[in-house]
Amino acid sequence: MIPIASFAGRSVALFGLGGSGLSTAKALAAGGAHVRAWDDSPDARENAAAEGVPLGDLREADWTSFAALILAPGAPLTHPEPHWSATLARGANVEVIGDIELFCRERALHAPGAPLIAITGTNGKSTTTALIAHILREAGADVQLGGNIGTPILDLEPPSPERVYVVECSSFQIDLAPSLNPSVGVMLNLTPDHLDRHGTMENYAAIKQRLVEGSDFAVVGRDDAWSEAIFQYLKGAGHAVVGISNSRPTAFGTVSLDSGHLRRTFALPMLKTLEENLFDLSHAPSLRGAHNAQNAAAAFAACERLGLPHDEIGLRMRSFPGLAHRMEQVGRRDRVLFVNDSKATNADAAEKALLSFDDIFWIAGGKAKAGGIEPLRPLFGKVRKAYLIGEAAGAFAATLEGAVAYEYCGTLDVATAAAARDAQASDAGEPVVLLSPACASYDQFANFEKRGDAFRDYVAGLLAEDAGQGALF
Ligand code: ADP
Repeated sequence: MIPIASFAGRSVALFGLGGSGLSTAKALAAGGAHVRAWDDSPDARENAAAEGVPLGDLREADWTSFAALILAPGAPLTHPEPHWSATLARGANVEVIGDIELFCRERALHAPGAPLIAITGTNGKSTTTALIAHILREAGADVQLGGNIGTPILDLEPPSPERVYVVECSSFQIDLAPSLNPSVGVMLNLTPDHLDRHGTMENYAAIKQRLVEGSDFAVVGRDDAWSEAIFQYLKGAGHAVVGISNSRPTAFGTVSLDSGHLRRTFALPMLKTLEENLFDLSHAPSLRGAHNAQNAAAAFAACERLGLPHDEIGLRMRSFPGLAHRMEQVGRRDRVLFVNDSKATNADAAEKALLSFDDIFWIAGGKAKAGGIEPLRPLFGKVRKAYLIGEAAGAFAATLEGAVAYEYCGTLDVATAAAARDAQASDAGEPVVLLSPACASYDQFANFEKRGDAFRDYVAGLLAEDAGQGALF
C-alpha cells in the first residue's frame, strides 16, 4: 500500500467504494488524512464499514472542511451530468481528483525519478500494459503493475527511485489526474467509446491527449485519424514522441508492422535510408494479429526508451503468455488449436480474432449487441462453420444464412464439443476452434471471464477424454 502523506492531518471526502475506492480510503488513512467516505449503494457502504472505512453522508457534510474530493472513476465528472458529490465539491471550491492523481503527488514527493509508464487508448490497454510489465520484469526490474488493470494503484508498493510503475489508465482516470506526468506515456488508438461520459469525441480525445502531453516521452499510435492528429500535434510542438503503427512501414522513425515484422526506417543524408528489423512477430504466439502488432510496437518503443537493448526486448516478447480471454490459446489436440476470446463482447473485437486466424470453427452468440455480426460479413470466408449459442443465435443465423454453414447449439458445452468434432474431421492445416462471441455473456454467464473459464474447462474435458493426444496451455 502507498500511504498518502500529501493530505496528512486534513479532511478528505471520498465518493465511490468499489475496489479502488476502498484502497484509496485505506491509503489516505494510513498517511494521516481524515477520510469521510460515501457511496450511493447501501451494499457498498456496508462492505466498506466492515473494512473499517469511516462513512458519512456527503450530502450532509460541511464541504468547506474538505481539502479534496476523491472521486471513483465510475462516477461521472462531467457527462451526462456531474455526480452530485462533484457538484457539491465544485460549489465549495474543493478540488476533485482520483487515485492516480494521489499516486502522482506521492511520487513527486518521495521518488520523482521512479519510472512511470502510463498506457491508454480505446483498445489494447491491458494487453500493452501487461506486455510492458512482463518485458521489464523478465529483464530484472522491480515492476509494479496496476491502475485500471488488476491491482488499484494505491495498493502497489510505495515509490522508490529504482521501482518501475506500469500503469493502465482509463479516460476517466486521466480526467481525474491533472498532474499525471509519466516518464513514458503511451496512447495506442482512439475510436468512439464512452461518449455518454465524455460528451463528444473531441472531449474524449483531449482527455487521452493529456496523458501523452504530460509525459517526458510519448509513444503514440498513427492508425486512426484522432491519434495521428495527436502525434502530429506533439511533433509540431517539439515534444519527444515516437510513432507506432500497424500500417505505415515507410513512415520515418515509426515502429511499424511490415510483413509480420516490427521494423523502423530512418532517413539518412543523400536520400539514403536505414532499415532496422526490430522483431519477428511470428516468434510471439500470444501477439497474433495486426492489432497486437500495434500493442507490441508500443511496448517495444516504451522499453527501448527505458534503455533495454533490442535483443532483450525481443527475447522477453517471445515469452509473453498473453492475457486470459483475449485470443488466449488454451489447448491443442493434434492440428486443432483452441482459442478463448471471450473478451470479444462486440463485433469490433470479434473482427480482430477472425482477422488473426484461417479455417475457423466459430462459437458465437450470447446477449446480442446492436448491429449484430453484419459488420463481420467480409470475413465470413474464413469461417468454416459457426456454432451458435444464447439469445443471439436466431439473429446470427439469419445473418449467416447462405454465406456460412451454422448449427444451433444452445449452450457453450454443446458448441465446444461440436466445433471440436468438425475441426478434427476437417482437412484444414491448422483448424481453430474459436470462442469469440461478439456478444455480452449475461444471458448465460455472470461475465465474460466466467464464460471464458467455462470454455477452458470444456476444452480440458475434451482433451482429457483422449488423454495423451492433446495439450492444455
Ligand atoms: P482494453 O484494456 O483497452 O480493453 P485489451 O488489451 O483488454 O484492451 O483487449 C481487448 C480486446 O480489444 C481484445 O480482445 C482485442 O479484440 C481488441 N484489441 C486489443 N488490442 C487492440 C488494438 N491495439 N487495437 C484494436 N483492438 C485491439
